[in-house]
Amino acid sequence: MSWLFSLPTEVVFGEGSAAELPGHIERLGRKALLVTDAGLLDQPFLRKLREQVEWVDVFAEVQPNPTVANVDELAARAAGAAGAEVLVAVGGGSVMDCAKAAAALVCNEGESIRPYHSEGARLNGARLPLIAVPTTAGTGSEVTPFAVLNDERKGIKGPMAHPSLYPTRAVVDPDLSASMPRGVTACTGLDALSHALEGYWSRHHQPICDLFAIEAGQRIFAALPKALENPGDRTARAEMAYAALLAGMAFQLPKNAMVHACSFPLSNRYHLPHGAACAFTLAAAVRFNAPVLGGRLETFAAACGFADVEGMAQAIRTLQRQGGLPCTLAEAGIALADIPGLVAESFHPLMANNPREVTPPDLERLYRSLALYGTSPQFPPEMSGAGPGAPL
Ligand code: ZN
Repeated sequence: MSWLFSLPTEVVFGEGSAAELPGHIERLGRKALLVTDAGLLDQPFLRKLREQVEWVDVFAEVQPNPTVANVDELAARAAGAAGAEVLVAVGGGSVMDCAKAAAALVCNEGESIRPYHSEGARLNGARLPLIAVPTTAGTGSEVTPFAVLNDERKGIKGPMAHPSLYPTRAVVDPDLSASMPRGVTACTGLDALSHALEGYWSRHHQPICDLFAIEAGQRIFAALPKALENPGDRTARAEMAYAALLAGMAFQLPKNAMVHACSFPLSNRYHLPHGAACAFTLAAAVRFNAPVLGGRLETFAAACGFADVEGMAQAIRTLQRQGGLPCTLAEAGIALADIPGLVAESFHPLMANNPREVTPPDLERLYRSLALYGTSPQFPPEMSGAGPGAPL
């Protein structure tokens, strides 16, 4: 057994911990720039924080899928008249990813993140100090070295990875994610579950990250139904915030695999939110990968309270339904004739991390199997057997 574990980000967790932000900011720099999205500016927490800290600038123009242009503009603002010494990202994965990439770009050559995102240029490792404050419970971006960016000009949406993208500090306050609407709760919660499972079954999985993954899975299966059922359940919200953090720690080194590879064309072509796109193939990927994992997925399922892997796959479908996420091709707006094109675009490099080799015919069968599921979250009995034509 040989492995390396590292997490350069300092993590502060707890209800009310965001109240300590002015102190955290002061320790990292005098000139702070706030990065957020316009929808959050009027939240009471953010209004108070804007009064407490003397910001050199506020950048609230981050789009839901942050663009290369967003990153370039933020970096120009941070480096320009503002002369920012520390970035503070308050928001979901989009805000954090945009701020992470901009914090690096400010300290690198050039005025655009594009060469580093899609043209093979290597970041030099320097970046502005960055505090990540998640307001959703799912992406784990506060503890990962990844930023998913959308290059509108080149038509490429995908992650970039570099150690300098780890935030300096993550301040995770479950109270900030307590007001997420139901759809966002479902998307981000199932994104977190995807991170736990993908980190666990990645070819580069390792024992410490496995522990985080199982712990995250247990908590998500227990708490997500409660958070969806009763949005005011503070205990369930705190569990989800903790689980999403653990799931981020579970995949930050092993990286994701087939579910995330498939998610990119699903988001690009059909505009599924990231978590809905991951959830779309997650149960099928559980079935596809289980046979090659030597009983490890049975261990994961048992730790989460399921009799077998199939029970866990069905629970994922139930969570999709409960959260109002698309479960069938028709619900996602995918025509049967679209499948070959969708398959062709799903072979992102993350696919190579999958423990079981995925071929185009495998993916085609996977998508066709999703055409057959009805409105019930349960798989029809004829779909749950083994043998040729069995669901993936
Ligand atoms: Zn994800």
